[in-house]
Amino acid sequence: MIEAKNLTRQFPGGTVALEGINLTVPDGQFISLVGPSGCGKSTLLSLLAGLDKPSAGSVIGIERPAVVFQDAALYPWKTVLQNVAFGLELRGLSKAACREKAEVALRTVHLSRFARAYPHELSGGMRQRAAIARALVLEPDALFLDEPFGALDAQTRSLLQTELLTLWERTQVSVVFVTHSLEEAIALSDRVILMASRPGRIIADVLIDAPRPRALRHDLTLAAIQDRLLAQLSEEVARVAAQEYDTDWRGVPLPTLSVAPGEEGGSGI
Ligand code: ADP
Repeated sequence: MIEAKNLTRQFPGGTVALEGINLTVPDGQFISLVGPSGCGKSTLLSLLAGLDKPSAGSVIGIERPAVVFQDAALYPWKTVLQNVAFGLELRGLSKAACREKAEVALRTVHLSRFARAYPHELSGGMRQRAAIARALVLEPDALFLDEPFGALDAQTRSLLQTELLTLWERTQVSVVFVTHSLEEAIALSDRVILMASRPGRIIADVLIDAPRPRALRHDLTLAAIQDRLLAQLSEEVARVAAQEYDTDWRGVPLPTLSVAPGEEGGSGI
């Protein structure tokens, strides 16, 4: 279980990125952190994963975190297999063991054929798969993903979302997934944590109790959750904008809420 208590993170210069965050993630749960740019999602992920230290409060529970970022951040001079094996080498495993485990991880993400390729020879989706394999090979107790599919085209994103769910169901690892897309969060997670900024804080924590795969457009309950969270978020965005913009600013129309089946529409933030 991950347990964050009363987390505050203030950066040098005074920005209070997070304030008063309390969050408990039971083992094996898949949660998403959603909110507008700058609300502290990445900061919270870093604190939960132990990559950063809070200014106040505490995080307990994670012994073996693994993190995947939007940019796969593979070593360009290493092959895919070497990239995946590297973390194990640092742990002191034998060359043969590293190789064997890395090969299994690459099979898991369906990338075995490219084991000897270099990162620049891969598509964006393949690079993210390699990054996920590099994380999984460490046998983490929690997987932290910071907008992992944000730079991918819609089809690749959808494919990788499905693969991530399959991996999660198989490994039962806890997942903390950062996204700015409410639709992605609701489609994937057990629980959506909605955040707002100034200071970064949690404004909603919603359980999504629905079988997967989920088709938001055809599920009235999920569409209603999406509408409710989007309305809450729009209010927050308007509140922050009112503080930042000139006093003659009169706001903008609310973003499109959920759409009828078959229609196009977006819920990105
Ligand atoms: P998000 O992931 O939701 O876009 P971040 O966690 O990246 O938000 O940032 C939250 C706030 O903290 C922002 O105002 C950002 O500018 C600030 N911030 C993030 N990292 C640093 C840093 N290293 N130094 C100073 N300010 C930072």
